[in-house]
Formats: sequence, C-alpha cells, structure tokens
Amino acid sequence: MEQFDALVVGGGLVGSAVAFGLTESGMRVLVLDEGDVALRASRGNFGLVWSQSKGLGAPHYHRWARTSAAHWPALAARLAELTGIDVGLELPGGLHFCLSDAELSARAGMMARMRQEAGEFGFDYRMLTRQEAAEMVPGLGRDVVGASWTPYDGHVGPLPTLRAFHAAIQRAGGVYRPLTPVRKIDPAPNDFRIAMPDGGVARAPRLVLAAGLGNIPLLPALGLDCWIAPQRGQILVTERVRPLLSMPTLNVRQTAEGSIMIGDSKEEAAFDSLTQRPAVMRSMAERAVRCFPWLAELQIVRAWAAVRILPKDGLPIYDQPARLPGAFAFSCHSGVGLAAAHARVLAPMVAQGGLTGDCALLSSERFQHV
Ligand SMILES: Cc1cc2nc3c(=O)[nH]c(=O)nc-3n(C[C@H](O)[C@H](O)[C@H](O)COP(=O)(O)OP(=O)(O)OC[C@H]3O[C@@H](n4cnc5c(N)ncnc54)[C@H](O)[C@@H]3O)c2cc1C
Repeated sequence: MEQFDALVVGGGLVGSAVAFGLTESGMRVLVLDEGDVALRASRGNFGLVWSQSKGLGAPHYHRWARTSAAHWPALAARLAELTGIDVGLELPGGLHFCLSDAELSARAGMMARMRQEAGEFGFDYRMLTRQEAAEMVPGLGRDVVGASWTPYDGHVGPLPTLRAFHAAIQRAGGVYRPLTPVRKIDPAPNDFRIAMPDGGVARAPRLVLAAGLGNIPLLPALGLDCWIAPQRGQILVTERVRPLLSMPTLNVRQTAEGSIMIGDSKEEAAFDSLTQRPAVMRSMAERAVRCFPWLAELQIVRAWAAVRILPKDGLPIYDQPARLPGAFAFSCHSGVGLAAAHARVLAPMVAQGGLTGDCALLSSERFQHV
C-alpha cells in the first residue's frame, strides 16, 4: 500500500492545476491519468484566458473567472521558476467582434448587464466603434461593425502549461502516472483507496475527481449525480506568420509561435473527438475571414476537434460530498482560464478540507433546486 496526501484522478488541466496547487501546500500527490486515446480537452483547446463573457446572471462565476485571470501572472512566473517552462501567457485585454448592428446592440446590452451585476466588484469594459477596433488590430474587415473590449482577457499556451504542471508536480515529489485509467474507487471518510494496475493500492485522506468527461462513470462512487455533457469544438491553425495580432479575440488569436488559431465552434456531440465536420470548419473560417480578410491568404496547416466538458448551466461544478469528508469532484469548461484559480485558490481549500466563498456557491446542489 502506497500512502499519499492526495489522490487526483485525471491529469488534464483541471486535475493537474489542483494537484500542483496541493504540492504548493506541501502535500504529496499521486495523479492518475488515462492514455492517449482518452478524450482530453486540455490538449485540444483554444487557449484563451477569458473573462468578458463569463457569468451573465451568475456574478459569482464572473468574479471567479476574473480572480483566475488576476492569479495567472503569478502562476506563470512560479511555473517558470520551478520548471524553466515559459507558458506563453499574455494578458493584453481581448476583443469580441460584432458583425451586424443586431449583434452589436445585443452585445452592448449584455455588457451593460454584466457591469450592473458586478456591483462593487466592478466591470471595466468599452463598446468600440469599428474605427476604434481597427486602431487596436490591423486589417480589420469591413463587416465588423464594432466590438466589446475588456482589460482582463488574454491567452496562454495550454500544452506548455500542462507540461509545466506535470514537471512541477514531480519536482515537488509528487507522482504523475499516465496510462493508468481508474475504474474503481474505494471511498471512506478521509480514507480513499485506488487499486493500481500492478496489483498495489494507493491510499490518501484526500481524493480529487478531475477526469473531465471521465468523471461521469466515477461520480456515483462519491454519491454524486452527473450534470455534465460533451460539446464538440473544432480548431483551425494557420502557418506561422510575423506578429500581427497584439491581442486575442474570441475566435481568432495568434500563438506565441506565430500561428493563427481560429476557433469557437459548438456542436452537440457524442463522446467523439475524431469526427471533423467540413461545414463547421467552413463557417468558422468564413467568420474569421470576415473579421480579418488577410487570413484568406494563409495556409491552414492543422485542424482538429476536441470535446468540451459542459456543465448543464455552463458554470464550473465544485463538489464536496457531505457524507465523504476529504472527497472532491470538479468538472468545468474554461479550464485554461480557470487554471490559476484552481492552482492558487481552489487547491489550498482542498488542502484545508473545505470549499468556501464563491467556490462553495458552485456545487451541483444548485441543480437540485431547478
Ligand atoms: C475546442 C475547445 C476549445 C476550448 N477553448 C478554451 C479556451 O479558449 N479557454 C478555456 O479556458 N477553456 C477552453 N476549453 C475548455 C478546456 O479545454 C477544458 O475546460 C479543460 O481542458 C478541462 O480540463 P479537464 O482536466 O477537466 O479535462 P480533460 O482535459 O478532458 O482531461 C481529463 C483527463 O482525465 C483523464 N481521465 C479520464 N478518465 C479517467 C480515468 N477513469 N482514470 C484516469 N484518468 C482519466 C483523461 O485521460 C484526461 O487526461 C476548450 C475546450 C475545447 C474542446
């Protein structure tokens, strides 16, 4: 029997961020991760650290997204210090383009409501005319009639971030074990055991279930219901070009290496990241070219699909089953943007044994009342 301070099921961005945060609290963690054929949103996402549209009607979620953005620079610096990996974080603010007067007026209404709901926490934004937006980014298409801008947004390299989390966990004496799917958990209050493929047993007083869509079959072991579903998104990547975009937009961003990424499709889908639909790619590309006509000149060099973990209401789910002290189950979309809050705010709560503040408002109990 191998004893740890915490067992973390899932080595994507959510599990790894929490596991890293636990090591920062002095805990020895074991991260159990599935193999290459698993659904892994963390390896197929768009890389935004985005707050401006998060939490309409749910100001606690908006605060949480902004809290994470505010923690990102310190997280990136710490990961660089521990591992030498530059995760490519930039937080220059972000733009959401509107391609019709109707879109612009709906967006303006939404942003005004976000500010009202934010109350004393505040919500800094501007609605930009076409001309103002064109002064911020080059070669804006004629179809763009305006944009919303907030100073909180940015982007990061999801793959270097994941690599840095794994390296930092191991540097702190933790263990990251890939190719180790967890099929069964033996839970007892503050005592969790998982059988290892080699016949051994790993044991710890804390358990964090953070396996993305892989949480679904494991939730019943903690007495929890499932409130998540898959949603497919597709991404297009162009050849590398010189720095052209000084800030990310919701559907087009330039990576630290120079590629332009085009994203933001949403399809109700089964658990399938292999199917790519040309019609969806075409409409993503068309919208991107309407925003930046010069994109039409660039070669697309890669395209893929990945599957989001989408809670029923879009907000993260942070559960702590009352009958099982020491157990936690986390499922969320926006796991890139939220990684800093997961590592630096959520993990210390797990280490101390209880979720508080805005996290406590994000339990799945909210679905019991609808
Ligand atoms: C197309 C697309 C674009 C996105 N864009 C953004 C964005 O711009 N910004 C943003 O913040 N978020 C974005 N997201 C969402 C973000 O990628 C996810 O919220 C995040 O990656 C979720 O991380 P996760 O660790 O929960 O899940 P995953 O990345 O799916 O990882 C789950 C891990 O658990 C493992 N696992 C599963 N079952 C088991 C098991 N039984 N035992 C052991 N291990 C198991 C898997 O192998 C996997 O490694 C996007 C997602 C998609 C699909």
